[in-house]
Amino acid sequence: MIEMQDVWKTYSNGTHALRGINVKVDSNEFVYVVGPSGAGKSTFMKLMYREERPTKGQIFVNGFNLEKLKQRKIPYVRRNIGVIFQDYRLLPKLNIFENVAFAMEVIEAPKKQIKKRTMEVLELVKLKDKANSLPSQLSGGEQQRVAIARAIINNPAVIIADEPTGNLDPETSWGIMKLMEEINFRGTTIVMATHNKEIVNTMRKRVIAIEHGLIARDQVRGEYGYED
Ligand code: ADP
Ligand code: ADP
Repeated sequence: MIEMQDVWKTYSNGTHALRGINVKVDSNEFVYVVGPSGAGKSTFMKLMYREERPTKGQIFVNGFNLEKLKQRKIPYVRRNIGVIFQDYRLLPKLNIFENVAFAMEVIEAPKKQIKKRTMEVLELVKLKDKANSLPSQLSGGEQQRVAIARAIINNPAVIIADEPTGNLDPETSWGIMKLMEEINFRGTTIVMATHNKEIVNTMRKRVIAIEHGLIARDQVRGEYGYED
């Protein structure tokens, strides 16, 4: 599903964020990405959804070589990758329905289909009754559930989540985790960067630890492994 071959990323200021990453993530895996601040986790995530380009190396996502992608194929590949951020990134002036439907409108799906699918994903994240609310009227956990609904609306093969519970209290974080687990159970590959030690140590999924731009550890039923 995802493969990186000798991937390096040096930012324009000379920072070596990644220094030779080799990794494979199979279809339907659930992977936690852990590591100290500044280790290269966000860079690793950004390369997978093509927010950043590697300085060297090859990246494959869902059968596409991201480095050899024709311009016209980019939207198609992006549609197959759902992204979730720590700060939700909802559009403040659109209501919840519109925020979620937006991702289907950009692919010009028929109106009726958009309505049906939007209500379906809002049902899954248990926010149907908030369809007409604005993001500012929702709690952090609810806003993140909207972001999850938006990320899954086009049925992506992969979800990339960069610290999705970073701004949430422990109980709300568990709710988000259970939702991610449900989405994974329904067939979506999930790669999630996190600093949530309790969640990683309880869920016992694959853990990839990044330190100084390299994979320091890759465990099948891993643990968090840091004290923060
Ligand atoms: P993490 O997510 O593990 O905290 P990042 O991938 O954000 O790590 O950062 C890895 C390194 O790259 C850090 O030294 C960071 O300061 C640097 N870095 C991240 N983004 C940029 C950027 N846009 N320009 C320059 N340096 C960056
Ligand atoms: P809800 O979403 O129903 O309000 P929670 O968010 O508290 O419930 O928890 C969601 C799920 O995560 C529940 O199945 C609960 O058992 C589990 N859970 C909550 N906290 C922990 C924890 N500290 N360790 C392990 N599992 C937990």
